[in-house]
Amino acid sequence: MLIVLQKKNDQDLIAHIQDLLKRKHNIDSHVIGENQRVIAAPGDTSMVDIATFENMDGVASVDRVNRPYKLVSREQKDRSVIPINGTCKLGARKEIVVMAGPCSVESEEQLDETAAYVHAHGVNILRGGAFKPRTGPYAFNGLGEIGLQLLRKVADKYSMSVVTEAMNEKQVDLVEEYADCIQIGARNMQNYDLLRRVGKSSKPILLKRGLAATLEEWLLAAEYILAGGNENVILCERGIRTFEQEVRFTLCLGSLPALREMTHLPIIVDPSHAAGKARWVSDCAMAAVAVGADGIIIETHPRPEEALSDGPQSLDPEQFAECMNGIRAVSGAMGRSVA
Ligand code: PEP
Ligand code: MN
Repeated sequence: MLIVLQKKNDQDLIAHIQDLLKRKHNIDSHVIGENQRVIAAPGDTSMVDIATFENMDGVASVDRVNRPYKLVSREQKDRSVIPINGTCKLGARKEIVVMAGPCSVESEEQLDETAAYVHAHGVNILRGGAFKPRTGPYAFNGLGEIGLQLLRKVADKYSMSVVTEAMNEKQVDLVEEYADCIQIGARNMQNYDLLRRVGKSSKPILLKRGLAATLEEWLLAAEYILAGGNENVILCERGIRTFEQEVRFTLCLGSLPALREMTHLPIIVDPSHAAGKARWVSDCAMAAVAVGADGIIIETHPRPEEALSDGPQSLDPEQFAECMNGIRAVSGAMGRSVA
């Protein structure tokens, strides 16, 4: 960490900062440069709240230099490869994993119909919500455990894996029984008790980016899970809130190359929640493959108009087929293939 002071030779402030670093964090620091304006605190400063120093009168700036997260950092390793129920691997350089299914599980017929066509297109992971985080309390909020049972039953029929969301710690107990991968939704990215709970899970975790989370906040959320002992975390870029109103969320595809420098965790993209409109999903999915996504998660419904949640952004079977063709074409151009 580097603390730059406003004035040269401000000996009282230097003494105060050095004393605080030592007493509070047991960090030895030294002053560098002729002007005695920079205090360098080498080593691990991830526990230090830099705002404490930024707020001091006489401090010009503080640069952490090393990041506040450790276990998720690229410094740990180059790349993590995360198996999902032995059927496929996330983060294997060449392969792109597609997960698809409805926003919500509505009935066995709806889920079976969806699984049949997504599986026919080579998809091995069935998505579907049983516990739904809805903006308003009167909207359909999922079938709960019945939804989980249907996911398991239908996925088994097609030899697929299941990814589904848990919104709280109690639901994790239940979701663990049925799912192969547990989704933490955007609205829960900073639910630290939930993150701690899934840190104790043996299932891989799909951690969606919070609606307004920076990459550092997102990685710190992932750090909670790894710190709890679960190393199998997959990041999912699903768009963030910006001033833009035409698209539902702004899909931040620049986050992928940036994250690849910051972390070893695999990164997938959800074009559906970002686009908000089915006819824009395919282009966003192809762009995600082009920037090197390890996987894509797509919402699709046999009859989107009848969907109980997120119908407008759900691909109908025909649009889904086109989208898969697009994903395969861009994958091929990138020297990759769909797993
Ligand atoms: C979903 O996957 O249906 C969902 C609610 O996603 P998000 O948490 O990204 O909004
Ligand atoms: Mn949805």
